[in-house]
Amino acid sequence: MHPKAKSNTTFWTSTTNKKSTSLDLQTPVQFVRGVGPKIAAVFEKRSIHTVWDLLHFFPRSYENRTDFIPISQLEHGEKQLIRGQIRSFRKVPLRNRRMSLFELRCEDASGSLLLKWFHAPQNLIKRFEVGKTLVAFGETKKNAFASEMIHPEVFFPDSGSQTQQKDFGGVIPIYVEIDGIPNRRLRSILRNAFDSLTTSVPDGLPESLKSRYQFPSKQKSMEEIHFPETSSKDAPTRIRDLLEFKTPHQLRLIYEEFFEFQWMVLRQRMEFRKERALTLDLSQLQSHLADLTQTLPFSLTSDQKKVIDEILSDFGRSFPMNRLVQGDVGSGKTAVALLTAGCLLAEGSQAALMAPTEILAEQHFLNVQKLFKGKLSAGLLTSSTPNPIRESLRARLSQGEPLLLIGTHALLEGDIEFKNLNYILIDEQHRFGVNQRRKLWEKGIHQKTLHPHLLVLTATPIPRTLALTFYGDLQISSIRELPPGRTPIKTFLVPESWKPRAYERIRKELQQGRQAYFIYPLVEESEAQGFEHLKAAVQEVDRLSQLYPDFKVELLHGQLKASEKAQIMQRFKENKTQILVSTTVVEVGVDVPNATVMAIEHSERFGLCQLHQLRGRVGRGTFESICFLFASWPLQDQTEKRLRIFENTNDGFAIAEADLSLRGPGEFLGTRQSGDLPFRIADLIRDQKWLVEARKDAAELLKEDPDLQKNENQGLKKVIQTFSAAKENLLQIS
Ligand code: ADP
Ligand code: MG
Repeated sequence: MHPKAKSNTTFWTSTTNKKSTSLDLQTPVQFVRGVGPKIAAVFEKRSIHTVWDLLHFFPRSYENRTDFIPISQLEHGEKQLIRGQIRSFRKVPLRNRRMSLFELRCEDASGSLLLKWFHAPQNLIKRFEVGKTLVAFGETKKNAFASEMIHPEVFFPDSGSQTQQKDFGGVIPIYVEIDGIPNRRLRSILRNAFDSLTTSVPDGLPESLKSRYQFPSKQKSMEEIHFPETSSKDAPTRIRDLLEFKTPHQLRLIYEEFFEFQWMVLRQRMEFRKERALTLDLSQLQSHLADLTQTLPFSLTSDQKKVIDEILSDFGRSFPMNRLVQGDVGSGKTAVALLTAGCLLAEGSQAALMAPTEILAEQHFLNVQKLFKGKLSAGLLTSSTPNPIRESLRARLSQGEPLLLIGTHALLEGDIEFKNLNYILIDEQHRFGVNQRRKLWEKGIHQKTLHPHLLVLTATPIPRTLALTFYGDLQISSIRELPPGRTPIKTFLVPESWKPRAYERIRKELQQGRQAYFIYPLVEESEAQGFEHLKAAVQEVDRLSQLYPDFKVELLHGQLKASEKAQIMQRFKENKTQILVSTTVVEVGVDVPNATVMAIEHSERFGLCQLHQLRGRVGRGTFESICFLFASWPLQDQTEKRLRIFENTNDGFAIAEADLSLRGPGEFLGTRQSGDLPFRIADLIRDQKWLVEARKDAAELLKEDPDLQKNENQGLKKVIQTFSAAKENLLQIS
């Protein structure tokens, strides 16, 4: 258990009999009537510590339980409310003894309905009586013989309990299930909290904004969110708006969340811009750039030029650059990174480029030699760098030689010290944790005065809404255009019966001298599972070796040592192996122009962005490339839709937006749990429009009253100072 939760439980025990009837917003949640020690502990785990937190635990959706529907008119798949008499009930014997099924038949004037429970709770069964009136709410399943509801919520209206009356006969808020606390319990706890509240809820929105959008007060909105009023004559439209989160009360809270968060993000950016960084002369930088581009074997695309210009003008400012470059695999981000580093080096600075794998770091290092022919001085440092070379690199760094140090996590080690590191570049930034990025950044703080410029590169574009929230203090540059001469990749979602034809097509590629990747999803959730997947991948190597006996197949997976991985990749690069079976996305960004086939097994298990990353490993040479998506048919509609979008677009930006809207921000952000999202009611997809408004308004307010001194901004000041600690932490993410 959480240590904090434990201490609170003890605290609570000593005051059992003194439940407070008057609460203020900072009262610990265990003083609310209906909150026992168990529930208090569960709340604690969910970061619900105070009454304020509790009131901001908003419903996730609403259910329309206003009217009783005659049983004969129930619709398949709809969640509806009925009222009937109990006719019979029984426990049904099942062959599997560990399961138990309980059935209840009820009737109204129009028909009869079967209610079913697996493992019905005893205290529910106890209350069943033939002839008793019962209200049930649930999703109806209809077949040729019967209508039934599985695990409905049931109430006994005759028993007259007050809490029950709030569970139907209106629009009912539905909360995210938290550790088994039933929704009705939550609703009654919230009612109690509201009723005992002696202070009003402070309003974070200045009057001027409230009147601009005609928003109701915070207090009123909070009450409507938890206890929506739907009995008036405009009920049908109101109910529809409620279900879609479009009532003025909901919109107000949505907007306020965005507004406060944006205010903090922008405020932080303002602080950040007070820091000093090395400021350089733009015309000098431009002349270094011209010098360096001359040696390139290609000319830059206009997007590359645009992004380089953006970076160089950042170097000309007094505050440190904090910029993300996003662009598809193969769009030429490395050239941008290296060129801008070269410009800084020419001004006498040092720079560091960190990549997630040794292979990538080496590839960058080789690229420097290839592209700049000695005009850019670079060093390579990984964990396999021999000691004498490492020592000489350390010496050169400490003497202040202008050098671009390229490497892996090895750059973070304590004895790697720079004399004047002014530029930090991080490739595939999502592969590094915040702490790793910060560690490198700290190596560039000179006597606590100058801060280094920071550039992060990513091949997974960040959808606009997320960019505005999580990465609010980042400047973003996009490379949308690919270098010329690339042939677009053809993608096919392969129906089951076409699989043999796809394999034959791959054979043709191999016979023409090309190479192929076969990818397996590997969810490294547990060792046992990892082992199962690995077994499947090993079998796959055997299968492919038999299928393509003239070609060499190798397996790359996450449990191999770094040096083994490197050797396998090297053999694939040199075309000593023609087929690479890979269980994970270990080597993003690896460049093997001769590989023209990307075959992805169980493609339905990948996110769109991940698929796009994988596809980006082919199509890097002059040959036309193909991507085959194999899947376990039949696919769910939604899944097929997702894969079809992927089949039909090669644009990483469009794919990222689609991925976000199909899977939601929690899934999209992956490692980060959706519980970490800073919003309790706002939805980054549904409410995009409000995010944009709120950001504009927050920026305006920050300009007018940066320290919130004006009278009308005192509410906002109070909310931010008192209640926003949690959000403040989230700002650290980017
Ligand atoms: P990214 O890191 O964005 O995935 P890279 O920087 O590795 O892409 O570039 C992919 C390949 O394209 C490299 O071989 C690189 O040398 C080449 N390249 C980069 N820019 C251009 C350009 N403007 N014209 C032609 N080739 C380019
Ligand atoms: Mg790259």
